[in-house]
Amino acid sequence: MTSDHSADAASHPEVAKPLDFIRQIVEADRAAGKHAGRVHTRFPPEPNGYLHIGHAKSICLNFGIARDYNGKCNLRFDDTNPETEETEYVEAIKEDVRWLGFQWDGEVKFASDIFPTLYEYAIRLIKAGKAYVCDLTAEETGAYRGKWNEPGRNSPYRDRSVEENLDLFERMKNGEFKNGEKTLRAKIDMASPNMNLRDPAMYRIRHAAHHRTGNKWCIYPTYDWTHGQNDSVEGITHSICTLEFEQHRPLYDWCIENLGIHHPQQIEFARLNLTHTVMSKRRLLELVRGGLVDGWDDPRMPTICGLRRRGYTPESLRNFCARIGVTKANSLTDLGVLEQEVREHLNAVAPRVMAVLRPIKVVLENYPAGQVELREAVNNPEDPAAGVRQIPFGRELYIDAEDFMEHPPKGYFRLFPGNEVRLRYGYFIKCHEVVKNEAGEVTELRCTYDPESSGGQAPDGRKVKGTIHWVAANGAIDAEVRMYDVLLTRENPGDTPEGADWKADLNPHSLEVLRGCKLESSLADARPGDRFQFERTGYFCVDSKDSQPGQLVFNRTVTLKDSWAKEKKKA
Ligand code: ATP
Ligand code: MG
Repeated sequence: MTSDHSADAASHPEVAKPLDFIRQIVEADRAAGKHAGRVHTRFPPEPNGYLHIGHAKSICLNFGIARDYNGKCNLRFDDTNPETEETEYVEAIKEDVRWLGFQWDGEVKFASDIFPTLYEYAIRLIKAGKAYVCDLTAEETGAYRGKWNEPGRNSPYRDRSVEENLDLFERMKNGEFKNGEKTLRAKIDMASPNMNLRDPAMYRIRHAAHHRTGNKWCIYPTYDWTHGQNDSVEGITHSICTLEFEQHRPLYDWCIENLGIHHPQQIEFARLNLTHTVMSKRRLLELVRGGLVDGWDDPRMPTICGLRRRGYTPESLRNFCARIGVTKANSLTDLGVLEQEVREHLNAVAPRVMAVLRPIKVVLENYPAGQVELREAVNNPEDPAAGVRQIPFGRELYIDAEDFMEHPPKGYFRLFPGNEVRLRYGYFIKCHEVVKNEAGEVTELRCTYDPESSGGQAPDGRKVKGTIHWVAANGAIDAEVRMYDVLLTRENPGDTPEGADWKADLNPHSLEVLRGCKLESSLADARPGDRFQFERTGYFCVDSKDSQPGQLVFNRTVTLKDSWAKEKKKA
């Protein structure tokens, strides 16, 4: 182990030993003096959508390694594709990385920053006889490429002279050809068992404006021709990517060796997959464009901004990433693991309040009309420093419809006619009469309270089995509360049958809106983004988009217990 491990661990104490296999490689490289002991990583998103929880895994890994080894981590946008990239995404991605608690080294970088360098490198390969301009159409190129079990055929343009290639490539750049008319290809091996080495495209002609370079270029480098060189130019030491790039590594190595430039080491790890969750940006975009969710930051989305709006904390996401670790084996992580992390963090930090989501009115017949007293309530039993607050108590209260049954089954300990329960931080109350409307719905419960039970016990030692929460009608705040469930009913969206529409698995009950919820008066000043535990109900966060002073909207972040685990046990 190195002695300077976790220089800044105090701000992210969640990084734990034993070391994952990537940190083991980094430590071995440092011990061997590779890259003069330097550690420089990068997080390279394509700005074609918002970041999701899978990206958080990559962010925690890359920035975490840089932090742990006194290294640097770049934020680099892979903006090689002019058509799909937007500045809106760039800004959102920067915000999400910062919110997760990380700061990139120096200025934000863009692949487009090195377009001139890549052009020079391409000329270098042409001059070395290692790249050529090809006139095959996309379709023909596909046919010449062969199959995985059958070699490809050389393009008829493969043996053009260096001079001709230089001339054509320059004319490609100058805009003399139409889209798709020519490509620049690396001259490697059309018989290679690795398809990525069968003369891959380096440049395509695309007469399209780019979000940063405008109309300066009409040829754009491919991802494969950009990525490795970009890592090299930035002096990256450990180029960490997901498993699907393993087969691209020989190509990146070929480019770097033939150019004779700094050679970062590529290391692949398994992507994060979560139950009941789709993560590809293409699919998330489909949900947004189709109006199936309320934008990228819909609290049901697995995006970082969606999770933030839902009430997730940066700590809980980092803890989650630390908990799942990094491996080389693809797997499916239970959504419950993510939920457990936010539950644990909010249990430690979220103030407790009382909120009644499905109110029934209770009238305490023996409590003086017009009288209000203040009851002391603990803000957070996990955190004595959080102190106490005073909440009003009076003749009229609300309790949750779930805490009352007119005809209870055996073993029901909450309120029913003739039964006595404890009101949390209040008194014992007993129900005498159920008032209903014409439709037969319960509208009010007539009860009495025991003034002697103020301390939560009766002086005669009488026992009650149930303790329920409540909100005094006096000062109660009306709010809307949005209850969420999984977006997809299918446990493993990767199992969607061939040809089936994955959207058929969208959960029609993923959002339930409760209006007229009653919250204790201390919530009058709740601000967007504030998080609370509603006692006995769950963790909730003030919505950052739709909540207004006087018209509060809350999102349920997570239930108090793992309701999924319970379901699974039942099943
Ligand atoms: P998507 O398929 O969701 O669009 P992507 O790989 O195309 O993802 P990029 O913007 O290219 O998205 O990703 C930036 C970085 O995040 C890459 O290094 C990529 O490997 C990593 N990444 C993307 N998705 C995941 C995931 N599910 N788990 C871990 N890392 C991921
Ligand atoms: Mg991508």
